[in-house]
Amino acid sequence: MQASFLSSAAQTLAELARRIGPVRLMEVCGTHTVSIFRSGLRSLLPENVVLLSGPGCPVCVTDQADVDQAIAAASLPGVTLCSYGDMLRVPGRGGSLREAAGRGGDVRVVMSAMDVIPLALNEPRREFVFFAVGFETTTPQTALLLQEAKRLGVGNVSVLVEHKRVLPALELLAQDPLTGVKGFLLPGHVSSIIGLEPYGILAEKYRLACAVGGFEGEQILLALCALLSQAVRGEPRVVNAYPSGVRDRGNPRARALIDECFTPCDSVWRGLGSIPQSGLKLRAPYACCDARAKLDLPSAVSAPIPGCRCGEVLRGRLAPPQCALFGKVCTPQEPVGPCMVSSEGSCGAWYRYGRRG
Ligand code: SF4
Repeated sequence: MQASFLSSAAQTLAELARRIGPVRLMEVCGTHTVSIFRSGLRSLLPENVVLLSGPGCPVCVTDQADVDQAIAAASLPGVTLCSYGDMLRVPGRGGSLREAAGRGGDVRVVMSAMDVIPLALNEPRREFVFFAVGFETTTPQTALLLQEAKRLGVGNVSVLVEHKRVLPALELLAQDPLTGVKGFLLPGHVSSIIGLEPYGILAEKYRLACAVGGFEGEQILLALCALLSQAVRGEPRVVNAYPSGVRDRGNPRARALIDECFTPCDSVWRGLGSIPQSGLKLRAPYACCDARAKLDLPSAVSAPIPGCRCGEVLRGRLAPPQCALFGKVCTPQEPVGPCMVSSEGSCGAWYRYGRRG
C-alpha cells in the first residue's frame, strides 16, 4: 500500500470511528478475508471497529450432505466427478472426495466448468458429473457448460448443482441479533455480476451500511470509510467503492445466462441451515442434466462435526481462534471443518496470516 494514501485513509477511518460507538462490520468474500490479512489492514482498524468474516467462501458453505452426494457419484462405476480443487479436502460424513479417489473413485480436478466438455467428448461411455459450487461468480460458467453440452449434443454430462445466492444469506445475517452487524463490505466478484440493486433491501429494510469493495488493501480501506461514514450519518445506502471493477448494473449478460438455466430454490448452507431461495435448481430444459436424478443419487443428511464451530464462525459470532480445535487438531494440513480447508476460509486465513500479528 502507498504509505501516504494509507496514512490519510487510516486517519479518515479513525476520525469517523471517534464519532460513533462500537461497530461491527462484516466482509462476505473469501478474497477480502485474505487481502485484509495480507495487507495488514486489521492493525489499522480503530479499536471500536470490529471486522468479522462471514460466509464468503464457497467451499465453507457447501453442506456436508452435498459433499456426501458428490462422493456417492464419484464412487459409481462408469462415473467421473469433476470438481474445483478446493472441494477435494472438504469433509463430508463419509470422508472427503480425495479419500473417495483413494478408494478407487474417479475424481478429476478442473479449473473451469467448461473443462468438462472435452473430457466427456473423449470418453463418451463415461458419465461426467460437474460438482457445481460457488456463488453468482461461478454460476455463469456452469450455465455455459450446460448450454454448450446441449448445443453439441453431449449426453454424458450432468451437474450436481450446489450454487448459492449471496443476498438471502446476507438477509439472514442482517436479522441475527447475536451477529449484530451494522454494515456489510460487499463482495466485488459477486457484485460484478448482480450489480448494486439487489442489496438495496439491506440498507432500506435492515438499515445496514453497504459498500462494494475491491481487493487491494487501499480499495478495502476506502470501502470501510464509506461504511463508517454511513454509520456516522445514520444514512445507510449502497455505495460502489469499486467502480473500476463493478458496474452499478452488474453484468446483465451473465445474469441472463444464469436465468436461462436456473431458478431459485431453498438451499442448505453449512452451519447456517436451510435458507429460503438461497440456492439454484435447473430449469426444465436442462433438467435432464440433473446428476441427482440421472444417477439416482441417495439423499444424504448432514451431521455436526464434533467440536467444529464453523456455523458460529460463518455467522460472525465467533472468531476462529476461539474454537478449541483451532491450530491444535484443526490445521490446513489436517482440517477438521470446512472453514480450515480453503485458504479463503475464515479459519484457514486466520491460521495462515492472523497468527503473525
Ligand atoms: Fe471448524 Fe476447524 Fe474452524 Fe474450529 S478451527 S471452527 S474445527 S474449521
